Amino acid sequence: MTVLTDLTIAGMKAGLARRDFSAAELTAAHLTAMEQARGLNAFIVETPEIATGQAAAADMALARGEARPLAGIPLGIKDLFCTQGVQTTAGSKILQGFIPQYESTVSGKLLADGAVMLGKLNMDEFAMGSSNETSAYGKVISPWKAENSNRELVPGGSSGGSAAAVAARIAAGATGTDTGGSIRQPAAFVGISGIKPTYGRCSRWGVVAFASSLDQAGPMARTVEDCALLLTSMCGYDAKDSTSLNVPVPDFAAGLTGDLRGKRVGVPKEYRLDGMDATIAKLWDQGLEWLNAAGATIVDVSLPHTKYALPAYYIIAPAEASSNLARYDGVRYGLRVTPPGGNLADMYSATRAAGFGAEVKRRIMIGTYVLSAGYYDAYYTQAQRVRALIARDFEQAWEHCDLLLTPTAPSAAFAFGDKADPLAMYLNDVFTVPSSLAGLPAMSVPAGLSPDGLPLGLQIIGKPLDEAGVLDAGLAIERAANFTAKPL
Ligand code: GLN
Repeated sequence: MTVLTDLTIAGMKAGLARRDFSAAELTAAHLTAMEQARGLNAFIVETPEIATGQAAAADMALARGEARPLAGIPLGIKDLFCTQGVQTTAGSKILQGFIPQYESTVSGKLLADGAVMLGKLNMDEFAMGSSNETSAYGKVISPWKAENSNRELVPGGSSGGSAAAVAARIAAGATGTDTGGSIRQPAAFVGISGIKPTYGRCSRWGVVAFASSLDQAGPMARTVEDCALLLTSMCGYDAKDSTSLNVPVPDFAAGLTGDLRGKRVGVPKEYRLDGMDATIAKLWDQGLEWLNAAGATIVDVSLPHTKYALPAYYIIAPAEASSNLARYDGVRYGLRVTPPGGNLADMYSATRAAGFGAEVKRRIMIGTYVLSAGYYDAYYTQAQRVRALIARDFEQAWEHCDLLLTPTAPSAAFAFGDKADPLAMYLNDVFTVPSSLAGLPAMSVPAGLSPDGLPLGLQIIGKPLDEAGVLDAGLAIERAANFTAKPL
């Protein structure tokens, strides 16, 4: 018997079209799975009534022959996307009880295409983190465990709820957001695919802002084709986002071939870090062989400013965050703490002291410092210059290749508390941050398992707006790796 929650989105679409099962049955199966997997803490809010209503509407549309592309597909929405009438917290206590009056453009587009919303997915507070340990609503637990170990593992972050839900077959797919790796790293940690499109492809309107010049939404799903299906619905010009790109959106799934003939895949030598994990290095070589077998030529390239990407990111992202998060003052949204006898300024500080967690406070302090009059040029201006050099590195690399292949993360998923030092945590983003700074499309696909049985991902980086090329390389790896990463 087919387990409905095991199907891919493409498989669900086909089954719904054939009337093998109804959207109501498909949603019910996911709601049951969601209840059984509550221990993972993947959702902050579950919305079973909304899901059931949307599934019924999808069944009617299917019966009328008017089904939209995602009719009846059960998705989870990261809690960074504002959802009309449904609490949106960005994983923070300061937004507890905030019920948006409007729907984010991206979640609205998915719903308009017929998707079913299962609930709001847990995440690192304001998307700051790589492990989901910073959520004010408790950590998300990965459905994976290493062989011969009972330690609970992180699902990655900040889209850890999205990753855990999709890997555990609670949701068919999910929205994620990626500022410095938050779609790709969690996807790699749990053995699913995720793509961050070119900056500006997906509207940021209604997505709670972290670092506006970096934030991008994107899909997370169990196959490359499923990511392509979701991406087509999520992308598109939006006049409400001043950085939205007014370019046509291809049908990414229809265009998928996995054929890399004529493509040149670059291997950036600076990504081969000293002391690189041997399994990761081997997997990377294996990935290059697979792409070669799919028709690509492999070329060595250099991205000389790579080593400055992390320090630049950890100046720019906190700087933008400190400015974006200034709006949480207890006046307009969510939490308000009024100390007895205090004035307005006391209310601001009491609200922010109680409402923000330690990592968010750290970033606000770093950001405020690097933007302060005496240090602005030394840190912020300098970081912006470095960002320009990093973008130029990629532009020069594109003269020699069409795509880049790298590991997604320096290791497999780690255990809770293993990276208590913030610097150790930030180092996790070493491979994902440069393409974020350059605004390029980048994807992680599951490529193998570590010696202790944990999923590992490879990252494909593409030229601006070449999501199609990135997805094709992703498909080539998925086909060659030929395994289903399913947690027990
Ligand atoms: N881990 C990175 C950070 O903490 C990236 C987060 C993200 O992409 N949202 O900033």
